[in-house]
Amino acid sequence: MIYETLSSEYVFQFEASVKASLKNTWKYVSDTERANQFLGQPVMEYKDFPLPKGGSKKEGLQTNTGFTFRFEEQPSEWVEEKFYQIVRDYTQGPFKRLIHRLELTQVDEEYVRIKNTMRVILRWKILAPINLLKFHFDIIPRYRNYQLAVASHTANDYNIGITEIVKKIKPEEHNALLHKFSLISHNELLCDLIASFILKSQDLDLMRIRPYRLAVIWHEEKREVLEFFLRGTKEGFFDMNWDVLCPSCRGAKSSSHSLSEMKKKVHCSSCNVDYEADFDKSVELTFTPNASLRKVFGGVYCASGPGSTPHLKAQVRVLPNQTEEFEYILLAGVYRIYSQQSKAVLEITSEISGQTIDTLHYNGIESQKISILPGKKKFLLSNSDLTEEITVKLEHATWLENIVTASEVTAMHEFRELFSSQVLRPGEEIGIKNLTILFTDLKGSTEFYNTRGDAFAYKAVSSHFDILIQNISKYDGAIVKTIGDAIMGIFLLPVNAVLYAIQVQKEIKELNEKEYGENVIILKVGIHSGPVLAVNQNEKLDYFGKTVNLAARVEGKCKGGDIVITSTLYENEAVKELIEKEKIKMEIFESNLKGFEESSELVRLILSEQ
Ligand SMILES: [Zn+2]
Repeated sequence: MIYETLSSEYVFQFEASVKASLKNTWKYVSDTERANQFLGQPVMEYKDFPLPKGGSKKEGLQTNTGFTFRFEEQPSEWVEEKFYQIVRDYTQGPFKRLIHRLELTQVDEEYVRIKNTMRVILRWKILAPINLLKFHFDIIPRYRNYQLAVASHTANDYNIGITEIVKKIKPEEHNALLHKFSLISHNELLCDLIASFILKSQDLDLMRIRPYRLAVIWHEEKREVLEFFLRGTKEGFFDMNWDVLCPSCRGAKSSSHSLSEMKKKVHCSSCNVDYEADFDKSVELTFTPNASLRKVFGGVYCASGPGSTPHLKAQVRVLPNQTEEFEYILLAGVYRIYSQQSKAVLEITSEISGQTIDTLHYNGIESQKISILPGKKKFLLSNSDLTEEITVKLEHATWLENIVTASEVTAMHEFRELFSSQVLRPGEEIGIKNLTILFTDLKGSTEFYNTRGDAFAYKAVSSHFDILIQNISKYDGAIVKTIGDAIMGIFLLPVNAVLYAIQVQKEIKELNEKEYGENVIILKVGIHSGPVLAVNQNEKLDYFGKTVNLAARVEGKCKGGDIVITSTLYENEAVKELIEKEKIKMEIFESNLKGFEESSELVRLILSEQ
């Protein structure tokens, strides 16, 4: 540890060498939110103040050791896997300024060096000895412990709390949880993993549990883990959160426990942008343990570290009329360089067919799109403004992975069964870019009742419903409603709708052969996919729009025993592959569907000689 004393400025330097990859070390150390919670720092209160040219200014407030610290948090700076720097300018409390700079260096194939520099400028020099002791005996040893702990957590278990180093689980608590979880799952390993996770994790890992992320870490089936949390929520062990994510910072800027409380229009004060909820991307379902399992405290410990926006690979402040530079390796993919203050965007597609360019210049004035070869690049960032500083960001334009979106979960049979009361606010319409809609109907069911009698018809119709209902969850679909003898089903993946239809037709054929010796039940199935609107229809989550109407009309073109799909569905690669692989006979035909001006190209799938 090195101390330098320059009047009221104190500089603390300390290092830690960890046996871990640069990538994993960065994941932990850049997560300043986790680090601060681990260090036992009290929570901070943040307020965003919009800046006239875009973006916002952050003001923080913290009470610690009897002092109130009020500060302006300057935009943090970083380049992924290289360094970060956080600067706080205090307006209240014993400090005037605090700068934490962290640098990573790959020492050799195994070790990474973490170099920390903390600069503190004190407001009152009289408190210097106390502050010095506090840093020496408390803050710095804890920081170093956190950074050394990185070494023992180098696998992909980033989201699993580091707290387990310090917290031992009481066996009776663990057993009590296992007993509760046995109500919702027979998978003992999964129950055990989730019980440990709930008991060991830091609060921040439990605030917004992402089931798919856990499934990936544990090598468990994603759907099984999600269903665990859904059933657990029904039992009162978890609460669900519908988070509406900001397209810019990916943060959950609006969160509610039910869909009906969800807001469609959201403002992110930190990015200073307005955006709308859509089911495909921005509405995410996460879970929090119910207070009966474990009390989770959801405070903010640091709002501007690089770990909270891992899609931002670099963030750099550029003073008026200045140019800054850094180096970064671009992988294949789309990147964007932008500043909320200057609005210009440099969109970079990094691809093998791209131009050989090694230096990229963002001038903040004009937007531009370029295609370049992946690899190490030098970035020059210029601020043409003569008075205002700008913050420039290098964003990797990928969306969050392994999240449960609203469009996916609301198209799940289990979800609709367990949470039929989870509906949108009446009158609210939320867009879904692509959903597959399936309609069925029984051919000639009216005359069937007349000729065969009610009891016979009732039994036959019921058996047909059993087949439709029993198969729906096997193909990751859901039944939205029944209309007389018809059903409306939804699927996230078009191929699942086709597989479901094939299976249902097969089982009906078998039923006819076994029970009746003739084709008593004749089912018609039509499928189409496209954009829809999710709505609340009679207190049920329903879907609405042209895609739904067209799917219903397509079903009308069935002869019975066959399946009719639209060309949109046929052009889906997985659907095409299935039809080819199963050697399904097809008939392509044009049809004028009622209510649609243009004729539609339809494909009839002929399953067998009926
Ligand atoms: Zn935002």
